[in-house]
Amino acid sequence: VLKTKRRLMVLMSDTGGGHRASAIALSDALHALYPADELEIIIVDFFVSVAGPPLDTMPELYAYLAKHPNLWRLIWLAGQFPPTRWIFSMYVYWLSSAFFEHALDSFRPHLIVSVHPLCQSAPLEVLKRRGLMGVIPFLTVVTDLGSAANSWFHKNVDLCIVPSERVRRIGLAQGVHPDKLFLVGLPVRKAFWKRAAPKWFTRLSLGLPVFKKTRVILMVGGGDGVGNMESLATAVTQEIANHADRLPGVRLVVICGKNAKLEESMRCRTWSIPVEIHGFVTNMADYMCAADVIVTKAGPGTIAESWIRGLPVMLSSFLPGQEAGNVELVVKSGSGACCEQPKKLARVLRGWIGDDQALKAMSRASRAQGTRDATLIIARILGQYAFHRRSSLVLDRQNANPFVQPVLA
Ligand code: UDP
Repeated sequence: VLKTKRRLMVLMSDTGGGHRASAIALSDALHALYPADELEIIIVDFFVSVAGPPLDTMPELYAYLAKHPNLWRLIWLAGQFPPTRWIFSMYVYWLSSAFFEHALDSFRPHLIVSVHPLCQSAPLEVLKRRGLMGVIPFLTVVTDLGSAANSWFHKNVDLCIVPSERVRRIGLAQGVHPDKLFLVGLPVRKAFWKRAAPKWFTRLSLGLPVFKKTRVILMVGGGDGVGNMESLATAVTQEIANHADRLPGVRLVVICGKNAKLEESMRCRTWSIPVEIHGFVTNMADYMCAADVIVTKAGPGTIAESWIRGLPVMLSSFLPGQEAGNVELVVKSGSGACCEQPKKLARVLRGWIGDDQALKAMSRASRAQGTRDATLIIARILGQYAFHRRSSLVLDRQNANPFVQPVLA
């Protein structure tokens, strides 16, 4: 029997590194579960590839706002306030609807999945106008962790997959029917689905000190390398150097992501302890396996990945609104702390790496929050929508739940 190839369209935008990472993770999981000749997946940047100017500046705008938290706070509040949110969504609809219709006609998807907070309203409006609502299922996979913008939630979606109880409650408050909200976890890349290799082995392959007692601190600032990383690295290296007698051989690995300016500036510096500087790395799973602790802004992707790797998490900053709930999740779960002041952060961090018991306890708490199976479970749900009738999902709901470890309420 000749089967029709099913086509899945994933809507995202490169505002930060997390949405594309989630889209790729889901695509990899779907390809692991279904043969490539039965399922075609297209990942589209809704603003860059579909809507075009002026919305195609959205990724640059986000990168700018991520470096200016006060400005970001204003934008976030505007997005939470229904009238301004409505005006913005109308603006996006007005600019993008014709192009999205064209994309629909060219790709003819059997299923649309959004992994971006701004990709619900306009596409769903187009589906409604074309009489395709309910014909082409539309699913949202929320890729924030402890907080989520209201625009993630649209009552007309067929299903909304959320990563935490806190986010599920936001969805309920936004009027999404309880049956449409499904708590699974955050999609993470393939490298995180498997158990990690032994730490010494990974360190060896990365050229890091193999000796177990030598502490490795990993420092990242999301895909865009944001969050005042240079001052953080300065404070941390100075603090460790000041206590070098008790903390010999500590190594700092700084991953600057796509921030080439930061990378260059960091490379020109001399440091008081051994420091490794990298640009964007594709083997974050290895670095997380090799490290003893991570210093990061409160990005959902990085936190979820660190939890899977059982890393104690030191949060150095967070975007107001969007990432504030992530801080609470980390602190309440006992998997880490948040210090926005570089010198204070360095002092607390120095305390951690000198205290094996504290590190072990945080590592355990961190691992307990990790949802390593989430990506494959979400992919299975998407597969059900792409291949079968939706009623069969009821079965999967029951089967999926036992695999999912709870993320703190
Ligand atoms: N990341 C990566 N290589 C890098 C820097 C970051 O693969 O050099 C990944 C990181 O592992 C995470 C994502 O980029 O999966 C960043 O997502 P997060 O939600 O933490 O922050 P965002 O950049 O979206 O604000």
